[in-house]
Amino acid sequence: MDIRAAELVDKLAGEHALALDDYEYLVEHLDEEVRDLLAEHARAAREPIYGHDVFVRGLIEFSSYCKNDCYYCGLRASNASCERYRLTAGQILACADRGYELGFRTFVLQGGEDPRFTDERLCAIVRALKEAHPDCAVTLSVGERTRESYARLREAGADRYLLRHETATPEHYARLHPAGMSWEHRMQCLRDLRELGFAVGAGFMVGSPFQTSANLARDLAFIQEFQPEMCGIGPFVPHHATPFANEPAGTLEQTLGLLSIIRLIKPNILLPATTALGTIHPRGRELGMEAGANVVMPNLSPGDVRAKYLLYDGKICTGDEAAECRRCLEMRMAGCGYTVVTDRGDPRIV
Ligand code: SF4
Repeated sequence: MDIRAAELVDKLAGEHALALDDYEYLVEHLDEEVRDLLAEHARAAREPIYGHDVFVRGLIEFSSYCKNDCYYCGLRASNASCERYRLTAGQILACADRGYELGFRTFVLQGGEDPRFTDERLCAIVRALKEAHPDCAVTLSVGERTRESYARLREAGADRYLLRHETATPEHYARLHPAGMSWEHRMQCLRDLRELGFAVGAGFMVGSPFQTSANLARDLAFIQEFQPEMCGIGPFVPHHATPFANEPAGTLEQTLGLLSIIRLIKPNILLPATTALGTIHPRGRELGMEAGANVVMPNLSPGDVRAKYLLYDGKICTGDEAAECRRCLEMRMAGCGYTVVTDRGDPRIV
């Protein structure tokens, strides 16, 4: 095994921090032995906090409209072949009611940046959800909004907010997004969300076009510095109707290594084994758990719209009914020694 990489893994496990160039070295030396060592430490860091518990989030993809044009995303505004839909407030609440019966205690409302969902509309939905299920957490994943908008949503009762930073390197951000989108604004949004009292989720794609080891090292340093409550990372998977249609997907191996590193940076972080990971490998989510993840996000969206929310090609679980999804995940998790629990799944205090 590479001696310096092994020493860095030990250091990270002990101190939960590394210098930028050490992260870069580690990212460049994620061979099988190093990944195994990382995963072993990641499990050891997770177990005193979360044991073998897996938190589930009920994902409700409520709008596939988006005004943005991110080069990697199937929902981008320029994709004329994308079939668009919006769920009504009633449909969203019905998804949550069904999810509640199935044991979900967190609902994630996710959508493109859809101007139709004004603050007023979204706040009304959040209030209704919290009123119907006061013991549940509501997570929003609706992109960049103004600080005032975030403040209103927080006041309406939203508990958490997912906004992937995508890359901590401004030049890389500019190669993944059109000129109208700004890295500085994305970062400002994350700071606003934190200041307003949301539990915040950052995250990035692994293997996105033009990404270098130095970029990934910066992502890790950003996670170390910002200390988000949640971190969503998954492999980049190309979508056929985007400018990145012919780019190669990110790898399972690199994603697993990075999941373990992130667990070691922040042992109580909420770390999903993403659907994208399950898309590039049939046991991707199980392997994600073994690498240190502790969250899965099954889909609660109505069956007839699932296949339309295609951020990337080949997305799994677009046909299953909610109950089926939950059962399937419970079995998958049990198969590798983990237990899906009925719990809001807040970060546990170390
Ligand atoms: S990544 Fe998000 S903001 Fe960008 S085009 Fe897709 S849905 Fe819209």
